[in-house]
Amino acid sequence: MRVDRQSKTEKRAKAGRRGGVRMVVGIGAVLLILLGGGTNAAAFLAPECRVAIDIGHSLRDPGAISARGVPEYQFNRRMARLLLGRLQQDPLFRGSFLVNDTGEAVPLASRPAIATARGANIFLSIHHDSVYPEQLSQWVYQGKLLDVCDRFSGHSIFFSGKNGNPTASLQLARAIGDAMRQAGLRPTLHHAGRGNKVLVDRERGIYAFDNLAVLKNADMPAVLFECGVIKNSQEEAKLCDPQYQQRLVEALYSALKGYWTAKRRDFQGFRE
Ligand SMILES: [Zn+2]
Repeated sequence: MRVDRQSKTEKRAKAGRRGGVRMVVGIGAVLLILLGGGTNAAAFLAPECRVAIDIGHSLRDPGAISARGVPEYQFNRRMARLLLGRLQQDPLFRGSFLVNDTGEAVPLASRPAIATARGANIFLSIHHDSVYPEQLSQWVYQGKLLDVCDRFSGHSIFFSGKNGNPTASLQLARAIGDAMRQAGLRPTLHHAGRGNKVLVDRERGIYAFDNLAVLKNADMPAVLFECGVIKNSQEEAKLCDPQYQQRLVEALYSALKGYWTAKRRDFQGFRE
């Protein structure tokens, strides 16, 4: 049956629905702010979550040197690749990718821009940790005199309170801290009060590091994860163990999944 004219009742109903939609959109904007989503919170409705995994440092400027003399970049690249492989097993994270897989010297501030250009929803920078100069002692490994510090061990998590999405970045940091705890891993607290790093969550090992360029310039939830202290000879050995690597990767995967699922649920729950 063809209907050429709308009845008054239908018009009223449509107008009512339009008004309802306007109200929902208005409340939605407020809710986005409350959820810490900022301008790109609607991204939480995307069917996929694209994680930009930043491999810390570069071949030329490899970061810390481990207790056994191995450059940090090698640890970072291995862990980033393992994490990418794990994420890509899940259709939710199919579009995830590595930043700086070739090892070029990409400036810190450019890395989040690469993530944005490739449509990332989350920025995760992977690093392995060092200690401060006065905490170092020396040992001989395979005939070489090298710096070592077996006093500190464990992961740490950094976020910037000054990037495009600080609230969501802290939520992501908490999700990672919780997943590490559930995996039976403990954070290191040796960065507390050092430089511009502020320990904001002792249990989860979360530090605010507002001016860290790689996080500050991100417009999506962004976290830097230090997998462990490679100046610690025992922790370095653990970080080279495939089973331990897998434990870290699984914890990161479950944190990312849990974080994204909770964000989507919050957002969709409101819409229903
Ligand atoms: Zn590093």
